[in-house]
Amino acid sequence: MKNINELEMLLNFSNLINLKSEIFSVVSDIKKTIRTLKDLNIFFYDYSSKKMKDVINNFSPVEDMFDETAVGVLYSNFLKLSNCDYIIDGKETYKLTLESDISLTTLLLPLRLSGSIFGMIEIVFNSEQDCSKSLINCLTIFSNQILLLIQNKLLQERLQVNYDFYDALKNIAKIIETQYELNYIIPLIGEMIDKFVSNHLIYIFVKNDSNYELFWPNACRDKGVNELIKKLKTDYLISEDRKIGIFPLITEKEILGCIVAHSTIDKLTPDDIEYINQLTKQSSVTIERANAYAEVLKHATLDALTGLNNRRQFEIRLKQEYASATRQKHPLCALMVDIDFFKSINDTYGHATGDKVLKTVAGIIKEQLREYDIPSRYGGEEFCILLPQTKIEEANIVAQRLRAAVEKKVIETFIDKTSENKKISVTISLGLSQLKDSDAAEDLYKRADRALYEAKERGRNRVVVYDE
Ligand code: GH3
Ligand code: MG
Ligand code: MG
Repeated sequence: MKNINELEMLLNFSNLINLKSEIFSVVSDIKKTIRTLKDLNIFFYDYSSKKMKDVINNFSPVEDMFDETAVGVLYSNFLKLSNCDYIIDGKETYKLTLESDISLTTLLLPLRLSGSIFGMIEIVFNSEQDCSKSLINCLTIFSNQILLLIQNKLLQERLQVNYDFYDALKNIAKIIETQYELNYIIPLIGEMIDKFVSNHLIYIFVKNDSNYELFWPNACRDKGVNELIKKLKTDYLISEDRKIGIFPLITEKEILGCIVAHSTIDKLTPDDIEYINQLTKQSSVTIERANAYAEVLKHATLDALTGLNNRRQFEIRLKQEYASATRQKHPLCALMVDIDFFKSINDTYGHATGDKVLKTVAGIIKEQLREYDIPSRYGGEEFCILLPQTKIEEANIVAQRLRAAVEKKVIETFIDKTSENKKISVTISLGLSQLKDSDAAEDLYKRADRALYEAKERGRNRVVVYDE
């Protein structure tokens, strides 16, 4: 499936934040992901030394890397790019509003910051290639992430290195690995920034038409903030008393919202401002990536984390199985599965471990089922399994087996050297129901869901069969 490549690419971007030595490996991952990619170069123009540098090759001046003609072409393209949006096969191109795929072999994307250009990304395909809108979107996000990385390096040179700051930045970049829904991402961003700047109040507003609505936390009774927000354009704003800073969450196309920092005691220092500004930029890229991710997923059938059917595919398969069961008068069962106390796993060991638990449980589900059973990820930590040609008694045996297999499984919390290594186990609750003659398709899983609720009520780690 073509879209999975773009998903992988979007996921790879979070690794970019892990400092210079890894740009190379991220670029090589991306080359592997897009098989038609022949070459990918990143150039950065250093205005102080007036030299173009090759980012992947340790920021070496291009004069040391390429012959004279190639260097000449690079500079002339760089000049052209300062006045257009892309260069496609040597031609200057303005705003791409792609309705259909576009054919191209080389694509140059500018690295632009507050209007001025300071680098470019060169992407060369093997042969003329149909480039989809979502691929160009992904590459644009890639260029923003590269830009942030370069800015981080500059910031790092100027300010003393602050590890908490890098942790916060890295964590924001990595959010996308677990979730792509804004309802979930924005509070996480808020919590991470809040932890980093614990001496200020942090708010996140999301733009809705022309109004900014508070999204996180629940309340902001701060008049100063609400007044200042109305003046927000594409650059950050600092209040006259220097206690409030408003930083726009912004993508190529639009202002998504803003992050507000309000210092209750002291003024915001220039360092505070620099750090929060950078964290906001990372947040913008993360949100943009999440949106692109959601867009790509619309066309996918599998859930990227677990490899099971996604919710959309579940709805399609439910209709098919319902039709065939009613037509052929075969039994059909649905099993709803929910991990017990999953939130506390995230809270105790972090989201990466939570994800690992989700993958493990999904793996057990796959292992325990027959080939024609249909498991899907229904939502966060909930799964729905359709069991065609299965009576409730048999389905109950499957459910009990599944419950026992999950309970028995030992999962190691180890993710990387920053995480602790513990052995944990989880349990699941299950609700089961069988299709009845008078049922609509949804009745089947709604009843399974009610049985699941009952299983939770009765103390979890058990199977409940729906019973009037
Ligand atoms: P219960 O036993 O009643 O089911 O308790 P619970 O904690 O499992 O239930 P709750 O529905 O309150 O929590 C589910 C949590 O799952 C909330 C959300 O943060 C987390 N979650 C949802 N999707 C994901 C995901 O993709 N990755 C991770 N790591 N966490 C997720
Ligand atoms: Mg749940
Ligand atoms: Mg749960």
